[in-house]
Amino acid sequence: MDKAKSWLPDISAHKGTWRDDWRLMGHEGYLCDKVLQHRKFDRQLCVLDFDQCDFCFEIFDEDPEHPLSAYFEPDQKIWICETCFKDFKKHFNWTAQEKND
Ligand SMILES: [Zn+2]
Repeated sequence: MDKAKSWLPDISAHKGTWRDDWRLMGHEGYLCDKVLQHRKFDRQLCVLDFDQCDFCFEIFDEDPEHPLSAYFEPDQKIWICETCFKDFKKHFNWTAQEKND
């Protein structure tokens, strides 16, 4: 395999492993080793009003009474829901940082 592109998915090698997951679509290329901010969902921080989890496309509900917490990657302004964070944090080597503003 081309070493420079080793992060590209090789479907055959991923059957039955954690990579064999419909939610994974090349995220390895830009989300490895990131520090993610655990914070209340904020539409202001979305790109083009893309208010969905980058993995499972769950839509983040803005209920002022019960603000939803999610994980935010500030470089590319990507939101990741709690479930996907839990499922993938080990594989992507994410670090969580509490953010309370
Ligand atoms: Zn998700």
